[in-house]
Amino acid sequence: MTVDHVVSLAYLIAALAFINALRGLSSHESAQRGNTSGIIGMVIALGATIWLALSAGGGHPAILTFLLIVAAMGIGAVIGIRAGKRVEMTGMPELIALLHSFVGLAAVLVGYNSFIVSGVESGAMARFHAGEIYLGVFIGAVTFTGSIVAYLKFSEKMKSAPLMLPKRNWINLVTIIIVAIFMILFILANSTWLASIWLILMTVLALALGFHLVAAIGGGDMPVVVSMLNSYSGWAAAAAGFMLDNDLLIITGALVGSSGAYLSYIMCKAMNRSFVSVILGGFGDTGGPVEGKDYGSHTEITAAELAAELRQAGKVVITPGYGMAVAQAQNAVADLTAKLRAEGVDVSFGIHPVAGRLPGHMNVLLAEAKVPYDIVFEMDEINDDFGDVDVVLVIGANDTVNPAAEEPGSPIAGMPVLKVWEAKRVIVFKRSMGNAGYAGVQNPLFFNDNTDMLLGDAKASVSAINAEL
Ligand code: NDP
Repeated sequence: MTVDHVVSLAYLIAALAFINALRGLSSHESAQRGNTSGIIGMVIALGATIWLALSAGGGHPAILTFLLIVAAMGIGAVIGIRAGKRVEMTGMPELIALLHSFVGLAAVLVGYNSFIVSGVESGAMARFHAGEIYLGVFIGAVTFTGSIVAYLKFSEKMKSAPLMLPKRNWINLVTIIIVAIFMILFILANSTWLASIWLILMTVLALALGFHLVAAIGGGDMPVVVSMLNSYSGWAAAAAGFMLDNDLLIITGALVGSSGAYLSYIMCKAMNRSFVSVILGGFGDTGGPVEGKDYGSHTEITAAELAAELRQAGKVVITPGYGMAVAQAQNAVADLTAKLRAEGVDVSFGIHPVAGRLPGHMNVLLAEAKVPYDIVFEMDEINDDFGDVDVVLVIGANDTVNPAAEEPGSPIAGMPVLKVWEAKRVIVFKRSMGNAGYAGVQNPLFFNDNTDMLLGDAKASVSAINAEL
């Protein structure tokens, strides 16, 4: 058996481990097993790839190749471990966006490297290879700048409102047509310098397109951007796999690309938006007819009053949102749940699919705080039952419980929301009346007769109730 055979076998095993990882990640109970399978697959993949690089030689002494790999991995590991340790759960989307930008950049660099090594060659296979390089660089460049813009938006270094250039759809369409024309010119070019010009011009256009595509997506649609860029980065990796002739990279890229695309589809469905309209942007614009409307005044409640009310309640539903994550209130919320259940109150959770700042954010926090899975329900499972609920505790959620989504003309119109206002009583936990939710839309729920506000940091408020109980 040659090195190539062993490496092919290792790649096959790694690919199966990755598929098994995705399968495991589809439910809470098996998620940890899924992660372990992914780690095993990655160790096998890395080991096999390093061995392949060492045995291929490439004109260098093997020790030099080895040292270069170790140095690159060492630098990457130090940066990665530091970033991983420092990042808060609420900062995950921006970190993920930044990591996607690296995948995009890697695909661009691999593409340019392939081009420099092969130059312009004749023959059908060479033209096919040129096409791979071109597409790889294109997808990589779009992913790179798109992810950087997503990073800037998530970290609030750039406004989350969509960039609404006049004729923005035409700008995208014309850019894509020019890129397609350049592709033909690149593939047919018979001198390396001519081909370089088309490749460089396309790269500039692709970088601008990536910037524009994501800059045009605003506020409430950003969840889809995370999974969409995830998908793009997968296709960029698959393209790099074709250029490097690496089967595992093609398989892994395709897995990431298709699972990201599927997740984007699920999230679009959850938000009642078409994928195309999200990609074309414009949603999440602040302003609109709902803004500036006078909803009257709000009423407030204290922790002690609420504790007394909760003791009397038969059925309580908690709908957490981004604010619970900011306040790190999940353990206090888990304590409150345990205390109320011990007093015979029926407590459950209603989770909106885009609550928080990344898919599954709330589920992860509640699982971390050991809230039993069987009392945590998805929006669709619980949304028709709010009429029977005595008290809903809206802990740091805003857009996901906003009845304005049912008003035509609202920037979040059509997005399904948790119908908490149908309950007998609603208590909203937030820090002040001044801030809107992520989509920048006012929430009429706060001014309903059956709603009281418990203002203050969510962790402090829930802890105060726990102390009363
Ligand atoms: P929102 O961002 O709509 O609202 C958060 C609420 O939490 C606000 O009312 C805020 O009010 C309050 N809050 C913030 N910090 C605290 C604190 N320390 N203590 C108490 N309250 C606090 O959150 P939702 O979860 O309801 O909605 C998620 C939004 O994020 C949606 O628009 C969604 O589209 C978007 N999004 C979702 C992603 C995903 O994948 N899930 C990714 C990116 C965006 P105040 O500031 O006054 O305290």
